[in-house]
Amino acid sequence: MKKPTIGVLALQGAFREHLQMIERIGARGIGIKYPAELHLCQGLVIPGGESTTIGKLMIEYGFLEGIRDLVREGMPVFGTCAGLIMLAKRLDEGDQPLLGLMDITVRRNAFGRQVDSFETELYLEGIEEADNPYKAVFIRAPWIEDTGPEVKVLGRFEGKPVIARQDGMLVCAFHPELTKDSRIHRHFLKMVNENHSVTAEKG
Ligand code: GLN
Repeated sequence: MKKPTIGVLALQGAFREHLQMIERIGARGIGIKYPAELHLCQGLVIPGGESTTIGKLMIEYGFLEGIRDLVREGMPVFGTCAGLIMLAKRLDEGDQPLLGLMDITVRRNAFGRQVDSFETELYLEGIEEADNPYKAVFIRAPWIEDTGPEVKVLGRFEGKPVIARQDGMLVCAFHPELTKDSRIHRHFLKMVNENHSVTAEKG
């Protein structure tokens, strides 16, 4: 099978580390700066950063509709931290531009300002080697306050969902690109390959 291309939205935030991880797991990673580049990829990562800034830039560059259309057509998307916030349908507080695609309610900066960043071990469901704990790096992270019936929670911290999936959408509240453990990126790559083979069969 041809190497799939995974785009990483490169407007702001931790996109370089995602690109490195994508290359490491054997896919091709490209930074996406303009909506016209979206059609080059079979999957898209929306990285961590500052969701209000990413939202503003998405509007400025005209990304909102293009991403919404592709995800609704089935293109897999992976949102980490601020990317998770961008994919949510609802925030528990405040108003800011969102893609509004995944049936979750999100609380931003949920762990408070004091515990701004930390590392912890999580047990993930449905991901390779589920018995091995996953070391997750949280940076001013959100958590998922509430999930709709289509959403499958893959891991929790202190009872709150911090990684979840709905159809072709995968989100996590932490930064999987900042650790050596590539299981979550490989899981996303599997989603991309599966979707790609379905599209190829149809076409
Ligand atoms: N606190 C940021 C926000 O609300 C997210 C932080 C991150 O992506 N590491 O957008």
